Amino acid sequence: MSPRGTEKNQEPDKFGTAYGITGKIAVCVAQCELRKRHLSQFAFTIPFAYIIIIDMKLEKVIVASSNAGKVKEIKEIFSGTEIVSLKDLGFNEEIPETGGSFKENAYIKASTICAKYRLPALADDSGLCVYSLDGAPGIYSARFSGEGPAANRALLLKRMNDLTDRAAYFECNVCLCFPDGKTLYGSGRTYGRILYEEIGTNGFGYDPLFWSMDLKKSFGVATDEEKNSVSHRARALQDLADKLARL
Ligand code: IMP
Repeated sequence: MSPRGTEKNQEPDKFGTAYGITGKIAVCVAQCELRKRHLSQFAFTIPFAYIIIIDMKLEKVIVASSNAGKVKEIKEIFSGTEIVSLKDLGFNEEIPETGGSFKENAYIKASTICAKYRLPALADDSGLCVYSLDGAPGIYSARFSGEGPAANRALLLKRMNDLTDRAAYFECNVCLCFPDGKTLYGSGRTYGRILYEEIGTNGFGYDPLFWSMDLKKSFGVATDEEKNSVSHRARALQDLADKLARL
C-alpha cells in the first residue's frame, strides 16, 4: 500500500483545526486557513483564530503505537494535548507493517487507527540505519533478531564486530491521518555512531548502543529531556508542524 497524496496538493483543512493536535500545530493550521481565506480581512479573522486554538486544547489525538517508550516521548513533545494511546483504547491487535519504507509503514498504522476510531491518528515508524551495514537494520529494527531489544543489540554488535565505520542514524517518519482523508507527513533523523559496548540503561531499543553526535554521549545515559531535544522523533514532529505552517 502506498501513501495517498502529498502534503502539497492537499488543501488546508478548514475543520482540521477542530480535530485538535497541539496548540502549536493548531496555531499553524489556524494561520494557514486565515492566510488562504481571509487575507484581505485579517483584522476580522484574528479572534476566529483564537477561538480555534482554545477549542484545540480540548481535543484529542490517538497515537497509533503500542510502544510505551515512543508514546512517552510523543506525550512529552505534545504536552498540552490529550494523547490517547492504543493501550488506553484497549486495542491490542498487531497492525502488519507491510510497507517498504518508514513512511509507508507510518501511513498504514495511522490510517488503520483513524478509520477504526474516526479520530485523528498519529503514527510513526522509525529505526536505526547503519551505513556499513547498507542501512540495516532499517525498517526491520524492531524485528532484527526476532527475539526482542536485548537480542537485537547483541546481534548488531555481532554483525559489526569487524567494522570500524560505526556511523549510523535513527530515522523517524510520522503520519497524521484525519477522518476526512487528509494526510500529512514529517520526517527526521539524528546522527551518531554505534558503540562497541552498551553504555547506560536509559531509553529503549538501541539507545544504549547509540552515541549521539548532538549530545556527545550515549542515548543510554541521556535524560528524556536531552534525548527529546535532538531525537529523530522530535525532528519528525517538528517537520510535520512546519509543513502545516507552510500550507
Ligand atoms: P517501530 O516500532 O516499527 O517503529 O520500530 C522501531 C524500532 O526501531 C524500535 O523497536 C527500536 O528497535 C528502534 N528504534 C526506533 N527509535 C528508537 C529510539 O529512539 N531509540 C532506540 N531504538 C529505536
